[in-house]
Amino acid sequence: MRELLRKNIANLTPYSCARNDFTGKAEVYLDANENWQDFVEKADANRYPDPLSVAVRKKVEEVLGLPFSKTVLGNGSDELIDNLLRCFCEPGKDSILLMPPTYGAYKVFADINDVGVSTVPLTPSFGIDFPALSEFLQREKENRGGEGRLKLLFICSPNNPSGNAFPLDEVRQVCELFDGITVVDEAYYDFSEKESAVKLLDSYPNLVVLRTLSKCWALASARVGIAVADEEMVSVFRSMKYPYNLGTPSQELALKALGNAAEVEKGLCLIKDERLRLEEKLKTLACVRTVFPSDANFFLVRVSDALSIYHYLAGMGIIVRNRSKELHCENCLRVTIGSRKENDRLLAALAAYKER
Ligand code: PMP
Repeated sequence: MRELLRKNIANLTPYSCARNDFTGKAEVYLDANENWQDFVEKADANRYPDPLSVAVRKKVEEVLGLPFSKTVLGNGSDELIDNLLRCFCEPGKDSILLMPPTYGAYKVFADINDVGVSTVPLTPSFGIDFPALSEFLQREKENRGGEGRLKLLFICSPNNPSGNAFPLDEVRQVCELFDGITVVDEAYYDFSEKESAVKLLDSYPNLVVLRTLSKCWALASARVGIAVADEEMVSVFRSMKYPYNLGTPSQELALKALGNAAEVEKGLCLIKDERLRLEEKLKTLACVRTVFPSDANFFLVRVSDALSIYHYLAGMGIIVRNRSKELHCENCLRVTIGSRKENDRLLAALAAYKER
């Protein structure tokens, strides 16, 4: 891992904030240039948050089983993706590997960081193309020696937009094939029955698993992402992240949601029940060609005419995502599983759709 880090990150002296210097309890805090006044009647809003989100990470260990010493929190998992690029990829030299169609932010953040993007597409049924992947990685290894190299490989499981999760054994195979950092983005893990890549962390110190509270935990506005990795790796992430990347209100919301795990479990069951129902009903509709199997809280649906149906639904106040321009997603819409009422509105609208 150390070898793969950018030199400036490996040699970094981290910013030392007031909350790092003194972590005990005191009566008078004059160490952080805060304002002692409170204009929003919110206790502690005038104080900087805990930079290491200790209470939340303890709760994450208790509730999600992700070890405290192996986690770092981000302002959404989006921040963690960006931080991975900034830690490992030398701008203008290094590159990452994506398996499209996949989550669009990986490429956008790579572009922002001037990091190259190579691709080994998924198969048309959204499986990992192992012959192509091993050939690509072999070739990359043989051609090393110039300035940059392939540093990160992103596996999104369950994959956005296709919805399928990859079996753990396939993730293990990728870790075996790749000698850089394998990132498994498990944003939709809670909706899946497949095993988490967290199980592989002890065997593969170059593995990073990303989770988020934005989906199953219904906290998209709080922006709480979790990276789980080897202790040495997360200590690097902690050293380079913005010191106060997670505000106190977000940390409090995370604690509240994680303290409400029984309710969240019930909510998850509702979504899974709706997933079954929606899949069956969608399949009966005239305009629906294929409903791709989903391990997530959305479906990729191939329809007769995605653009026309997208506009038709929008006209009825129902917004879905047109993914037709993504690889292997011709005429595909991505539909989030909503409440029973919302799904019924979608189904009724689609049933009334007349082909143009
Ligand atoms: N990963 C995937 C696969 C996603 O689909 C998303 C959000 N749509 C994210 C990460 C980002 O999630 P967050 O809200 O935690 O930044």
